[in-house]
Amino acid sequence: MSQKKPKLGQNFLRDARAAERIVHALGDLSERTVIEIGPGHGAITEMLAARAARVIAIELDRQLAAELRQHFSAERVTVVEQDVLQFDFRAAAEKAGMKLRVAGNLPYYITSPILLHLAASHAALDTAVLMVQREVADRVTAHPGSRDYGVLSVTIQTHGPAESLFTLPPSAFSPPPDVHSTVFRWRLAPRFAELGVQEQPFLRFVRAAFAQKRKTLANNLRAAGIGDPAASTAISEAGIDRQARAEALSIETLAVLWRRLVSGGAIPGRESTAQ
Ligand code: SAM
Repeated sequence: MSQKKPKLGQNFLRDARAAERIVHALGDLSERTVIEIGPGHGAITEMLAARAARVIAIELDRQLAAELRQHFSAERVTVVEQDVLQFDFRAAAEKAGMKLRVAGNLPYYITSPILLHLAASHAALDTAVLMVQREVADRVTAHPGSRDYGVLSVTIQTHGPAESLFTLPPSAFSPPPDVHSTVFRWRLAPRFAELGVQEQPFLRFVRAAFAQKRKTLANNLRAAGIGDPAASTAISEAGIDRQARAEALSIETLAVLWRRLVSGGAIPGRESTAQ
């Protein structure tokens, strides 16, 4: 067994029931290809291998990848020794001939980059069931008006609904991390067309709207170069209180505001091709 590498976020799951619940939450896998992020010693992989048509396990740690290759039949489990942030989900989905499901007890030091990589790969994915630090799951699944609602909530939820499933204490892992962990399910079904927004310009606008928690929406927009009278007009046309903060606004209202700003010429509605 390899030594734990703290830098790689190696806190291994000791709770077999939790591994089972993660796999169960992915639904019927009998004809599915599942990508596992960070399989470690294989606590979740073992159950995926028993239920899925095919598992692709992406592990950065060379020793762990070798251990997994020895343990699992290559017909069922393909071990890819790679940084998951470099993994091409689209190519894997094309090869599999179907959208992929994703499971993982994530290495917490790169949780946000992994979630953004999955969001950017949404066309290749259908459902992800992921273990993250509890505070991150709270932000991912938060609704408007709650303390945790912000850029991460909007970014994730515009790519499809996310719900928390269960929380585990540090003692469920070896070695125990400093934090509680929560498993959430994310059904990737992007809402950009339905909301009438363009993905990249809209998410850029959302980051500007939430830039400083204490500031009003209007002040955050002004700081991003979206000034009056265009901003005030769009805010009032979208039916938003002048003193509102972005934290109070639903994704639908943010989309209405974005569309008003675009139609008023205050921000570009399409990705500019010029650098
Ligand atoms: N799935 C196992 C479990 O639940 O016991 C291990 C989970 S552990 C929290 C995270 C795993 O991700 C470790 O095995 C670690 O080596 C691996 N890892 C860390 N960084 C990675 C990266 N950039 N790409 C792929 N795997 C990575």
